Amino acid sequence: MTQSNDTLRQQFPILNTTVYGHPLVYLDNAATTQKPQSVIDALCQYYTQLNSNIHRGTHYLASKATEQYEAVRERVRRFIGARSTHEIIFTRGTTESINLVASSFGRYRLREGDEIVVSAMEHHSNIVPWQLACEQAGATLRVIPFSEEGVLDLGALPALLNEHTRLVAVGHVSNTLGTINPVAEITAMAHCHGIPVLVDGAQAVAHMAVDVQEIGCDFYCFSGHKMYGPMGVGVLYGREELLEQMPPYQGGGEMIKDVTFERTTYNDLPFRFEAGTPSVGDVLALGAALDFMEQTGLDTLAQHEEHLLHYAIERLQHIDGLRIIGQAPHKTSVISFLLGNAHPYDVGTLLDKLGIAVRTGHHCTQPIMDHYGIPGTVRASFAIYNTIAEVDALVDALQRIAPMLA
Ligand code: PMP
Repeated sequence: MTQSNDTLRQQFPILNTTVYGHPLVYLDNAATTQKPQSVIDALCQYYTQLNSNIHRGTHYLASKATEQYEAVRERVRRFIGARSTHEIIFTRGTTESINLVASSFGRYRLREGDEIVVSAMEHHSNIVPWQLACEQAGATLRVIPFSEEGVLDLGALPALLNEHTRLVAVGHVSNTLGTINPVAEITAMAHCHGIPVLVDGAQAVAHMAVDVQEIGCDFYCFSGHKMYGPMGVGVLYGREELLEQMPPYQGGGEMIKDVTFERTTYNDLPFRFEAGTPSVGDVLALGAALDFMEQTGLDTLAQHEEHLLHYAIERLQHIDGLRIIGQAPHKTSVISFLLGNAHPYDVGTLLDKLGIAVRTGHHCTQPIMDHYGIPGTVRASFAIYNTIAEVDALVDALQRIAPMLA
């Protein structure tokens, strides 16, 4: 690890934690990343110096908070290359962003006999909202399969796209397999048929530069807490022309223009989709997370994680009986694996006793587990602050516990 990485680690106070007498090795970044001090400070500053409800006040604090909240919207717009701040809607996270589209676009566009296409490697958050929308409309879910390696079978996509298809919803990066899906290619294929595309970017934005115009997608969803930001805030990017046509998701404050008992008219974008008091402090802290990522450099971030990924795969492969699930040629720093016949939960519990935090289970991707015929995996996932020494600690710990589970 370089000197500059050491300095970077010092920005994350939680990394000094000791677990059962061992230094914490945090390898559960796909579930949530840790937060730099600047993000924690931004939250604290909001509540100590600025707390006020936005958009509706004329007083000093309300206008300052509104100004800063809207400034983060502009920061997010630039971060993902959207055309306009009208296209950036703050939500509670990826799950809410997808539910917003499934509910609103679903009501506006989905009819009996229609179809929605998802992939077999989606997170439940990009499956269940579509099932709910399909159930309500009498529509059907169609599924893009994937190979043993963990690569989507794009050859199967043309046969799934037809005059009944209303939307394709696909993950940019699989949270279980790490596979980076060719979302621009998928979008181009769907657009040939005039079908809009939603991309679940929850596992992508913290690991690579994302440009929604380059991808060409119509919707892009992500969560603050997986990109060094706070929990409780996420983003829905939607193409303005589509958002303009969609009915509101929730009714209430801020999303209206005028309310009478006879008729309500709705606010302009993006406010039409932000009913009620948003999590202002979390939005401001998300701004600090974007600062952190941009100051660190998205290229630096991607290169460091790729280095860790290759090193970890190389070392893990030499552990007897260890099987890596998901070996796509293009993947992010997520490694799912099984250790012999040991249950993933047992492996995770023993690793925890040695201070190593990994995730075990189906990772909210049960169809992936069904595909491989396994109950779950152990998943190690890296972020910018992880080190080669931590990968070594994982490998050493696995070598130590393997005989206990044989
Ligand atoms: N999609 C993917 C690919 C994810 O990894 C996750 C979180 N595990 C989600 C959606 C849901 O994100 P959130 O819980 O932040 O709404």
